Amino acid sequence: MFKETVAFIRKQFNAPEAFIPLHEPRFVGKEKEYVMDAIDSTFVSSVGAYVDKFENELALKTGAKYAVATSNGTSALHIALLMAGVKPNDEVITQPLTFVATANAITYANANCIFLDVDRDTMGLSPTKLRVFLESNAEVRDGEAYNKKTGAKLAACMPMHTFGFPCRIDEIVDICDEFNIPVVEDAAESLGSSYKGKHTGTFGKLGVYSFNGNKTITCGGGGAIVTDDKKLAKLAKHITTTAKVSHTWEYKHDMIGYNYRMPNLNAALACAQLEQLDAYVKNKRELALIYSEFFKEKSFDFAIEGPDSYANYWLMAVVLKDGEQRNDFLKFTNEQNVMTRPIWRLMHTLEMFKNCQVEDVTNAEWLEERVVNIPSSVRVEAL
Ligand SMILES: *Cc1c(COP(=O)(O)O)cnc(C)c1O
Repeated sequence: MFKETVAFIRKQFNAPEAFIPLHEPRFVGKEKEYVMDAIDSTFVSSVGAYVDKFENELALKTGAKYAVATSNGTSALHIALLMAGVKPNDEVITQPLTFVATANAITYANANCIFLDVDRDTMGLSPTKLRVFLESNAEVRDGEAYNKKTGAKLAACMPMHTFGFPCRIDEIVDICDEFNIPVVEDAAESLGSSYKGKHTGTFGKLGVYSFNGNKTITCGGGGAIVTDDKKLAKLAKHITTTAKVSHTWEYKHDMIGYNYRMPNLNAALACAQLEQLDAYVKNKRELALIYSEFFKEKSFDFAIEGPDSYANYWLMAVVLKDGEQRNDFLKFTNEQNVMTRPIWRLMHTLEMFKNCQVEDVTNAEWLEERVVNIPSSVRVEAL
C-alpha cells in the first residue's frame, strides 16, 4: 500500500524517478523583473519602494489595516509579543504542537510558555481546553489576568494555524476577551487561509506571517506583522527599524530597537510572489482534493480542512494508524526518494522548554505519534 502511495505521489508531480521534496518554491511570475529593478535602483537594503508596496499589498490581501514587513517570521513574532504588551516574567499561552519558533519568540520576549492542548481536527489550540485552563487557573485583577499558580501575568495567547488549517480562532479570541488577554496569531503557515470568511492572522490584536523558503510564498527570508491598530503598527515599524527618530542628518534613537527590517531586495521578490498567492492556493487545494480522494480507501487518513475553513494546504498531511505505521511510512517513502517528514516533537519535551507549565495535552500527543507531511508543492504544469 505504501508502494501504491509513492507511485501516486510521483504521478502528481510528473516525477517517475527524481527526488520529490516536501515543499519547493515556485518563481513563475514577475520575480526576476522586480528583483532586477530593485538592483538597478541601488536600493537593495533597508529602505526602498518595494518594502512600502509589499506592506500595502499584504494589508489589502489579508484585510488587515496595517502590515509591517520584517526580516523573518520569528522576528515578527518577537515584536508582535512586545506590541501586545508582554513583559519579562510574564506568561504566554500557546500550543505544544508547533514549530519551535513560536516558543522561541516567547523566550526572546523574556516570557514563559504555558502549553495547552490542540483540537484533533484543526491541530490548533483548543478553545475548550483554553476555557478549562483559564476558568481554573486565571484570576482577573484590575483588568489583567494572572496565573493563580505562579502569580505571573497571563500577558498573551498565541495560537498557531497548523499547516494552514485555521484553528477555532473566533472562539479563542472570545474566551481571551473575557479574561482581557490579547491574542497574537502565529499565522506563519496560513497566509491565504481564512476562517468564516476572514483571513487568518486578522482575528487577534496582531498576527504574523512568514515568507521563509518553505512557505506557501517566499521572499528568501521574511516575515510580517499585521494589525488594525494604527499606534501599534507605527511602533512596530519603528522598533523593527532600529527606533531611529526621523531627522535629516542626526542619529537619534529613542528606545532599544531591532534591526528586523525586510531588505528591499527581498521585498521585491515578496511583491512578485504575493501576486501569485491566489493561484498557488487554488493549485494546492486541487492537489489536496486529489490526495483526499486517493486516501479515502486507504488504512490511514488524509487531513482535510474543517467546517467554516478555507485552508491554503501549505503542508499536506496524512494521519497514520499508530506510531509504528508512521515510522514504517517515513522509512519507506524517504528510501524511495519521496520526501516525507513527521510533525514536530511537542515543545515541552524539548530540553529548553521542559520546565514550562503544561496541562493535559492528549490530542497533541495523539497527533505527534501519527501525523506525517507529504509532498505539497505547487504543481507548475497545473497552474
Ligand atoms: C515558519 C514558521 C515560523 C517562523 O518563520 P521564519 O520566517 O522561518 O522565522 C514561525 N512559526 C511557525 C509556526 C512557522 O511554521
